[in-house]
Amino acid sequence: MKLENVILANEPGGARWDLEVSDGVLQSKGATNAAPDAPSSLLLPPLCHPHVHLDKPYILTCNHGLSAHHPDYTDLAPRSGSFDEALSNTSKAKERYTAQDVYLRGSQFVATSYQQGVTSMRAFVEVDHVTGTLPLQAVIRLKQDFSHLVQLQICAFAQDPVFSTGHGQENRSILEKALRDYGSDIEALGSTPYVESSQEDSIRNIDWAIRTALEHHVHLDFHLDYNLDSSAAFLVEPVIRLLTEHQWTRRADKSKTIVIGHCSHLSTLPAQKMLDIADGIRQQDLAVHFVGLPTSDLFMMGRPTDEQTAPHSRPRGTLQVPSMIRDVGLAACLGVNNVGNAFTPYGTGDPLQLACWGVGLYQAGTVDDAELLFSCVSSRAREAIGLSNTGYGGGMEKGTAWRPMLLVENTKTMRVPPRPGCPEVPIPARQRVSIKDVVWDPPESSLRSVVSCAHACQTNR
Ligand SMILES: [Zn+2]
Repeated sequence: MKLENVILANEPGGARWDLEVSDGVLQSKGATNAAPDAPSSLLLPPLCHPHVHLDKPYILTCNHGLSAHHPDYTDLAPRSGSFDEALSNTSKAKERYTAQDVYLRGSQFVATSYQQGVTSMRAFVEVDHVTGTLPLQAVIRLKQDFSHLVQLQICAFAQDPVFSTGHGQENRSILEKALRDYGSDIEALGSTPYVESSQEDSIRNIDWAIRTALEHHVHLDFHLDYNLDSSAAFLVEPVIRLLTEHQWTRRADKSKTIVIGHCSHLSTLPAQKMLDIADGIRQQDLAVHFVGLPTSDLFMMGRPTDEQTAPHSRPRGTLQVPSMIRDVGLAACLGVNNVGNAFTPYGTGDPLQLACWGVGLYQAGTVDDAELLFSCVSSRAREAIGLSNTGYGGGMEKGTAWRPMLLVENTKTMRVPPRPGCPEVPIPARQRVSIKDVVWDPPESSLRSVVSCAHACQTNR
């Protein structure tokens, strides 16, 4: 595989290189022979979804038109858009799942993600008394069928209570059995303590998740504190306390991380409280990573309780990810959570688009901000789910093992139809030559692709 006239985003200076890769190794790297005015391509570390629900993308725009094997969900479109409605409608959708449906929607999402430059993801799959292991089995097939393109890490996920309600114990048993039966394909355990009907059961949920993750040697992932009520019970502290009591740092494999998603409640806390939380995590040497999920959070949070009398002042809330990293010293990243369902009924799930939104959401408009936001959908996202970043850094030299990278191509000109009777006047295209260019203005999907030595070598043969 030859890559001509590329700029390595992680190298300062913007030098242009010709690279030759074979047998999975960078064989040569030299100054480009391309003409000075030839458009360069930008080579970036690939993107990662640290948190995405792979059993429920595109429910609202389902595949029912293709065949009767694919359920019709159109009656479950949001009416109020509320969180309770989303939970309720998603429960109804789950009752209609078929294996073909989950596989097709999942494959559409994974393929779209790959085209957007994603090479790794943590895929949440609900396992409970409604779905059983049907979605899990479909996602295990996806993991195998896309293994040459995407490192798909499965998180067996308890969206429903595992203690409260008449189904709590059953849900818990089904999940534990799935971990035993499909353990070789499951790399993380996820739970949602806030859906339990009491504070006591939320704590039991956390305790159970920690014990079970340790027992099965998997990563741990919580949906936590999904509210903007500063007076509500706050569960990050119990998570840290219980991780400490269970001696997670000593007992868990060093590679296993603890991820906390949503956690919009943190955005209501005073600065000192955030520093105290960070201190607690550092003192216990816990590999805790926070995942901000702003596209879902802004849609769900800060809703008026009464549409008629609601003030137009409606504070929204999502984790202040750049500030958590820089000011508080926490590990944090960004994810898309959902696409095309009642929790997030919009978007394409593009991580670069998410990073771009971060510029406005976090008022983060400097070049350094752009690089931080890119890392939040790339290297920091991979770290959160326990994946290595080796091979993606700067200083790529001859002999370096090649890992699939994201290539953003530039064109020399833009072409639009001329005025009638007038000649076409090509417009010089703006060139994307650094990380800020792709964060401030995400490139079109058709101009980006994952470059992998294995695939290119096979194509060349
Ligand atoms: Zn989620």
